[in-house]
Amino acid sequence: MKKDIHPKYHQIEVVCGSCGAVWKTGSTLTELRVSICGNCHPFYTGSQRLIVDTEGQVDRFMKKLAAAQERQADAARRKEQKQQQPKKKSLLREIYGEEGEGESGEA
Ligand SMILES: [Zn+2]
Repeated sequence: MKKDIHPKYHQIEVVCGSCGAVWKTGSTLTELRVSICGNCHPFYTGSQRLIVDTEGQVDRFMKKLAAAQERQADAARRKEQKQQQPKKKSLLREIYGEEGEGESGEA
């Protein structure tokens, strides 16, 4: 091994952020945190819990989804209100009276 070119190798503890499991390993890092490990990943546990939400990603998605659904409902409500309102008289009809009917169409 050449001198002064290799990073230092440490005995460190890896910590799982999801289940809190700790195990030792060797690494050039001084600290290692993982979001999921073999102790808690559904593939290894065989549990039905398929989504492991360690960083609030599911919550964030659900919030976005709720906001989007609210916007859609709001838009639908507004559209309904707009349709219920009586149509404004055509500007041409206001100016020329009812004689322009048929020619002016919708304004
Ligand atoms: Zn884990």
